[in-house]
Amino acid sequence: MAREQDDLMRRGIGMTSQRTRERLIQRLYEEGVTNAQVLEVIRRTPRHLFVDEALAHRAYEDTALPIGHNQTISQPYMVARMSELLLEDGPLDKVMEIGTGSGYQTAVLSQLVERVFSVERIKVLQDRAKERLVELNLRNVVFRWGDGWEGWPALAPYNGIIVTAVATDVPQALLDQLAPGGRLVIPVGSGEVQQLMLIVREEQGFSRRVLGAVRFVPLLNGPLA
Ligand code: SAH
Repeated sequence: MAREQDDLMRRGIGMTSQRTRERLIQRLYEEGVTNAQVLEVIRRTPRHLFVDEALAHRAYEDTALPIGHNQTISQPYMVARMSELLLEDGPLDKVMEIGTGSGYQTAVLSQLVERVFSVERIKVLQDRAKERLVELNLRNVVFRWGDGWEGWPALAPYNGIIVTAVATDVPQALLDQLAPGGRLVIPVGSGEVQQLMLIVREEQGFSRRVLGAVRFVPLLNGPLA
């Protein structure tokens, strides 16, 4: 694609324009997202490039959208809220993400922390997400095709872990892979009954905070080609 055309696409036109994006940021702020760095990163991340072209005009609505394979790109409010919770206690170095999906949350995180380690079970989603991050020149991310229930033990421990699919219970492997003081943000439950939780590895054991009802697709088992 020609350079100018490429820039135009990144900046967006019409329903993906800067003004449409500003409205989303205003809305997130009104809904209680206060971390200025998170809001700024969401403002400059072109969410319309993470969905099918046919859905691009809806990319700056505060809603989850289908990305194929029965999966969805997370709602911007959830991406903002979970990022804010991860960063609440200060900057983070190593963050593992479970459920790369479109790569949108990955792209946001990669601009907020030093390094992101992102695990996805569906290979084709992972490949597409990888391409998008390269296109956007976000290079501090490594990807693993695998089962998020197992985390990524070889590169543990992590200062933060974020799970973007709902788990029936908190996976033990993820607790084990948290560094001292490390923070895990994860939706827990099933079907209609899901709660967002923040779990922190304390000097002794873990503290848990329940942050309210959420709606995510399920954390499934095993990798899928
Ligand atoms: N944050 C992503 C959300 C994608 S939806 C985005 O904004 O696009 C949740 C993702 O979790 C899906 O891509 C799904 O394939 C993935 N997933 C579900 N179970 C998983 C598992 N056990 N391990 C890794 N990824 C999983």
